[in-house]
Amino acid sequence: MTMWINQLGDCQLAASDKERVSDLHLGYAGSRLFALSCIGLPVQPGFIIRSETCNYYHQNGILPPEFDSELDAAMEALQTQYASTPMGQKLPLFLTIRVTSRSRVAGFVSPIYHLGMNAENTRLIADLMAPSSRNDTLMSSDQKATNQLKRFLYQFTENALDISSDILEDLFDEKREELGYDSDNDFSLDEVIALSEAYRAQLKSELNLELPDDLRDQLRTAAITALKSWMSRRAIMQRQIHEIGDEEGLAVIIRAAAFADFDDMSGQAYLDTRNGSTGANEVQGGLGWNLVGENNARTSWFPTSLAENEGDDALTEAAPELRNTLIEIGQKAERHFGKSQRIGFIIQSGMPWVGDSVDLRLTAKAELKISVDFAREGILSKEEALCRIDPNSLEQIMHPSIRQETEREVIASGVPASPGAASGEIVFSAEDAIVAAREGRKTILVRVETSPEDVHGMQRTEGILTVRGGMTSHAAVIARGMGRPCVCGAGNVRIDAKNETLFASGQYLKKGDVITLDGAKGEVLLGDVAMEKATMSDEFQELMSWADAARRMGVRTNAEMPSETLTARQFGAEGIGLCRTEHMFFDESRILSMREMILAETESGRRAALDKLLPMQRSDFIELFEAANGQPITIRLLDPPLHEFLPKSDEDIAQTASAMGVEDIILRRRIDELSEFNPMLGHRGCRLAISHPEITEMQARAILQAAIIAAKNTGAPVVPEIMVPLVALKKELDFVKERINAVADEVKEEMGENVHYLVGTMIELPRAVIRADAIADSADFFSFGTNDMTQMVYGISRDDASPFLKTYRQKTIIDEDPFVSLDIEGVGELIKMAVELGRENHPNLKLGVCGEHGGDPVSIKFFDRIGLDYVSCSPFRVPIARLAAAQASIEAKIEKSIEAKMKDQTTDIGVK
Ligand code: PEP
Ligand code: MG
Repeated sequence: MTMWINQLGDCQLAASDKERVSDLHLGYAGSRLFALSCIGLPVQPGFIIRSETCNYYHQNGILPPEFDSELDAAMEALQTQYASTPMGQKLPLFLTIRVTSRSRVAGFVSPIYHLGMNAENTRLIADLMAPSSRNDTLMSSDQKATNQLKRFLYQFTENALDISSDILEDLFDEKREELGYDSDNDFSLDEVIALSEAYRAQLKSELNLELPDDLRDQLRTAAITALKSWMSRRAIMQRQIHEIGDEEGLAVIIRAAAFADFDDMSGQAYLDTRNGSTGANEVQGGLGWNLVGENNARTSWFPTSLAENEGDDALTEAAPELRNTLIEIGQKAERHFGKSQRIGFIIQSGMPWVGDSVDLRLTAKAELKISVDFAREGILSKEEALCRIDPNSLEQIMHPSIRQETEREVIASGVPASPGAASGEIVFSAEDAIVAAREGRKTILVRVETSPEDVHGMQRTEGILTVRGGMTSHAAVIARGMGRPCVCGAGNVRIDAKNETLFASGQYLKKGDVITLDGAKGEVLLGDVAMEKATMSDEFQELMSWADAARRMGVRTNAEMPSETLTARQFGAEGIGLCRTEHMFFDESRILSMREMILAETESGRRAALDKLLPMQRSDFIELFEAANGQPITIRLLDPPLHEFLPKSDEDIAQTASAMGVEDIILRRRIDELSEFNPMLGHRGCRLAISHPEITEMQARAILQAAIIAAKNTGAPVVPEIMVPLVALKKELDFVKERINAVADEVKEEMGENVHYLVGTMIELPRAVIRADAIADSADFFSFGTNDMTQMVYGISRDDASPFLKTYRQKTIIDEDPFVSLDIEGVGELIKMAVELGRENHPNLKLGVCGEHGGDPVSIKFFDRIGLDYVSCSPFRVPIARLAAAQASIEAKIEKSIEAKMKDQTTDIGVK
């Protein structure tokens, strides 16, 4: 077996040892040409110098001892193959040489297209080539041949001899001046050949360099330069930028060269097998007759369209057979790689040769459509199609996005907290957003951070920008729930709320100036920019149905409003995994009663205020249960510290005091009493329920009464899951559960109806993890609150951490913000422990996750692996979670089958 060089089209090798012909050894382009030559597509005969040769050369400073004999054998075989091609029957062998590597980084030596050029062959091709009679490229065959020789001399000088072409250029310049010519096209064939000889002599005398005449010698020189270029400064730099190790090595592709200017039926073409922007099953591409050089990248140089019905110049008219052949080749390549392709062709005398075939760059929309079409056409299985799509890319389909080609003037950046894009006038308060919306104006709400009071304004604005906060801060969570774009933690923005200006990237913007948010990238752009609409196609729906069939885990949503619930159900949510009840208390109609309750000095005062809140809560829950229509709903009891509900600004405090009929000073004193240094570690979660059981009792009553009423209204039974937040001790849960059970007995009594309900807890504190077995005794379910858990386990504040987490990422201390993607090694390990401990004591314990990680594909795969029953995420992330859960199931299935196979093999060979 050859060690250093492989012949293209060695199908036996391809069939017997796939690894040897992989991109690691033959480079990306090489392995692809190898594969295409083996499925019978017209690839010029040739061979590939393997990356091992490159590695050997750089390790030992010499070529491998067998290299020359392998090169001779490869050339001999190539000569034979070439002789039987249409080209070989007309022309002596010329070669192209180009470099390729697995990772496709740039920085190597450029190709040489016609090794084999010398004086004799130039005369020969001048005789054989036909003059060009096409209007745009009138040229005699002598001119064509001299152009080829000149091009070869330049390419060989720079890409084989590795020197500048200044000497060559000077020679041509001097001669042109001497003869009084306007351009190089005026030279005769003899003159150019004479110049090439003069050049050869000058190289020898001045630089002691050989410009060989013979094809094999030219090839050897060019091949060594190609191998050397792996260690060129540019290549090393590129590898450093892309973090690619030196051990990869490059491969060198050598093929018989065709002439794209041989006659009037010669040229170059490229073909996209599908429409890369929409995914439509239509070919795109173009052809240029007499097109010589490296033009593949410049599609505008291909004036003749390959698309159907594309005007007079279309190839359908000009050469229908050629067009059909190109399309057929495209289809075969696409089928073989299972991906849509961009294929470059070189055409000589009407015969197309495949120059290269690369995966077509696709928009998210096109990727989705093509994957589904491939599964329909049998090119991929449904499972393969599902695994093909990056779940996060669905965001681009579900939300408007900024047009790709749009120029962006980015003035600030932060955490990409909620995807989508929107433009609007800057407003600095929720009230201004509401007023503008009433007047039909679009706004972007800009705040240092948002609080629950801003929610109404957030509902009426197009997008939200905050200076502080991260992925789990208030603005981010609410914006994702609403499907609004949001950028959080844009630390380089300074807000002067009093003067209603903001300062970013050296410029002041004022209220009313227009900005655009790109929530997917976390960027703030100046002005209004062109958008791409969200489109949820039939293919999207179909893919989602395949995902549902493939996944094990359920997908629920985090929602507290009926509208969000309905949106999430349209996206395929199977219930509510987290209803944060605190959001229900901020409505204008109830915030006053809430504040009365908080400010009451006695239990009876609190109960009186809670009595006013009860009917409102009950009707909220009825609406929610009805929207869920029998799907499970987890309702969390009040979680945040109470002072979050109190007024903050002087104006608000004065208004609230007057509405409640108390002195300003009394209200201020109570606000002071309730304020805490570390509210997230303070009087919140189940601690509130223990201090003020009457709040829990009101909420439990509202939930259970609503369940009975909604079940009657819809006919669908409702089994509410009442969730106790921030539990650390089993006794905390027991205390609250006792109150809930007592209320349930009363409700049954009062309404004469039985009501089924579950009581469970959030697991978000490290102590709850350690004691999960004990807590599971009292819980019907656990829901992992990974936002708080990350905060508590790391000891970092979820609202303040994003600036230094960004620094941590830049300095590669962490790969990803742990509030965005679960810290699997740390927080994940604790979740796994709680799962095991919980199920040990309570095998049927229902397990879910409702932190923001429930919508992150990488985290979802982990949750699947450790056996959670469902994930819950904001409505717009539901499809992402469905797809990620499906991919997790498919991967688990594949892993299982590999394990089973390995087990079989070890049993076969008698290993126990
Ligand atoms: C959590 O902590 O993960 C959670 C879901 O609750 P919240 O974000 O409301 O604190
Ligand atoms: Mg929490």
